[in-house]
Amino acid sequence: MTADSPPVRRLADWDQNRLRTLAETHGTPLYVLDLDRVRENYERFAAAFPDAHVMYAAKAHTGRAVLATLLDSGADIECAARGELRRAIAAGADPNTLQYTAVNPPAQDLDFAVELGAENPGLTITAGARDTFDRLEDRGYDGRVAIRVNPGIGTGHHEKVATGKDAKFGIHAREVPAVAAEVARSFDLVGIHAHVGSGVLTGDLDDHCRAIATVADIAGETAATAGLSFEFVDVGGGFGVPYREDVEPLDLDVVADRVREATADLDARLSLEPGRYVVADAECILTRVNTVKETPTSTVVGVDASLATLIRPAMFDSYHPIRNVTEPGRENEPVSVGGPCCTSADVFCTDRPIARPGRGDILAIGNAGAYGYELANQFHSQPRPAEVAIEDSEATVVRRRETLEDVMRVESTPTDATGLGDEP
Ligand SMILES: *Cc1c(COP(=O)(O)O)cnc(C)c1O
Repeated sequence: MTADSPPVRRLADWDQNRLRTLAETHGTPLYVLDLDRVRENYERFAAAFPDAHVMYAAKAHTGRAVLATLLDSGADIECAARGELRRAIAAGADPNTLQYTAVNPPAQDLDFAVELGAENPGLTITAGARDTFDRLEDRGYDGRVAIRVNPGIGTGHHEKVATGKDAKFGIHAREVPAVAAEVARSFDLVGIHAHVGSGVLTGDLDDHCRAIATVADIAGETAATAGLSFEFVDVGGGFGVPYREDVEPLDLDVVADRVREATADLDARLSLEPGRYVVADAECILTRVNTVKETPTSTVVGVDASLATLIRPAMFDSYHPIRNVTEPGRENEPVSVGGPCCTSADVFCTDRPIARPGRGDILAIGNAGAYGYELANQFHSQPRPAEVAIEDSEATVVRRRETLEDVMRVESTPTDATGLGDEP
């Protein structure tokens, strides 16, 4: 049983020789994805919640290899955009098992979901605004829906992910019973949903479970006052992983006990949507040192990965472990590591002790599996990196490196704008 797998994989636990070889073979920057670890993480999580319905939140990493691995492990998938639905189906998901969470959904996303639902009555659409239900009704949809509630409490590693108190997400707790009564007249209202934060670790569990208990209360009150019964109450994802080496991983048995306590009075199945937890420590990035500069105040190490490769440090001030895999035995020296982008935000660390990097060394950046490749971009006209997946010790390229041709393919000028074709 892989449910016994270690609760955390640190950057030093990766096979350093393997990483060096992969960098030589496939070039840098390179994403290295361990599909066996993805599977372990999902199975450990699912084993801790044996009575719950566990869906993987695709947006953390929507790569086809990840989705196919999780589907094979028995996971269902939660999607928050039409592209994610499309990719989940391409990876082999039965549309009848998909849950689509609509947040300010563009028209084409709703069109896609409604069309999918017409053929696949098992699809569930979650909405967090009256407006969205109206737009579904306008499209003739009368299938399964869930109401996303805003419990007024947010938790997590950064205010930009504490979605539970952000008015953008969900219907205000006070309004839920009335909205539910209305929604149940036009749709098959099967659930109550909330996703309140992200990166929740042991110290955040009290707040997180208070938010979950609030959601359970809202569900109970809504069922009572509107005379409804719910098939499920979905408390979202948000379960964190330790990015820093000295932080302990979540004890899933404790988490499961606490969540069970918070939802004890629930007369519905519990659903969970972990994203980050499943993929974060299953991927690292390999990058090559191209410049080492001593300055009067610090040592600056230039690498070929940038905020276009991994934007989390620039966007969320996220800490990612970094290790010199070419010369791990060298003495540590405080260095700042940054990429080729012309902004001071393009740094992975500042004055951090790392085995003194030299030009040509390969550095590994850990915990890059969640919101890593998914947020990669082409800033500075940089092609996005390749991704290599390891499964049963075999390494396979599952995403080829983009080329400059890929970067330029979609553009034109007003005078030669022929043949680009319509937007699909
Ligand atoms: C992002 C998201 C998740 C997953 O969040 P994690 O912090 O990655 O676990 C789950 N549900 C919804 C609706 C989300 O938007």
